[in-house]
Amino acid sequence: MGTCEVLRIGHRPERDKRITTHVALTARAFGACKIFLSKPDSRIIDTVGKVTEKFGGDFIIETTTNPKAIVKNWVGTTIHLTMFGLPIDDNLEDIKKCKGPLLFVVGAEKVPPWVFEHSDFNIAIGSQPHSEVSALAIALSKINDVSYSQNFEGQLQVVPSGERRKMKNRSEVDY
Ligand code: SAM
Repeated sequence: MGTCEVLRIGHRPERDKRITTHVALTARAFGACKIFLSKPDSRIIDTVGKVTEKFGGDFIIETTTNPKAIVKNWVGTTIHLTMFGLPIDDNLEDIKKCKGPLLFVVGAEKVPPWVFEHSDFNIAIGSQPHSEVSALAIALSKINDVSYSQNFEGQLQVVPSGERRKMKNRSEVDY
């Protein structure tokens, strides 16, 4: 299995700023290396860029005006996450065998038919409607055992604590 990337389609800047930010942060935290946004939104690029700058990693955000071309021309495997798809657990082994980068496609409102047609897999995380954030998190963690457990080697790092908020920076100062 190759690297994981995410395509967020249907972003409505006036309505979806917060949830698309969470899709991008989830993609980063759960091991994807890149997200494509189907509409430009500098607020999301700024917010996620600042998180990456502080907490580390090489996560990339790119805007596209042609999400269909990204899916059609993808060299690797495309996985559309949709409540109407096939159960992820029945398809995990096949997905894990795929060569090349995986592209996970998540929608916002109703997804156009071409996404179903051009994706290699249409995959459901259960057959109930929930969210692009939860669907992406579960898919990435099922496909990659270390998805959210990676070390990002960031300037800021959380020090796990059962009692309080604790972070350290490279100069070892506690926050
Ligand atoms: N009825 C819509 C649909 O076409 O799936 C639900 C839209 S939902 C608000 C936004 C996105 O969340 C969907 O495009 C899909 O990517 C993801 N999603 C929601 N529920 C899902 C599920 N059960 N399995 C996989 N993805 C899901």
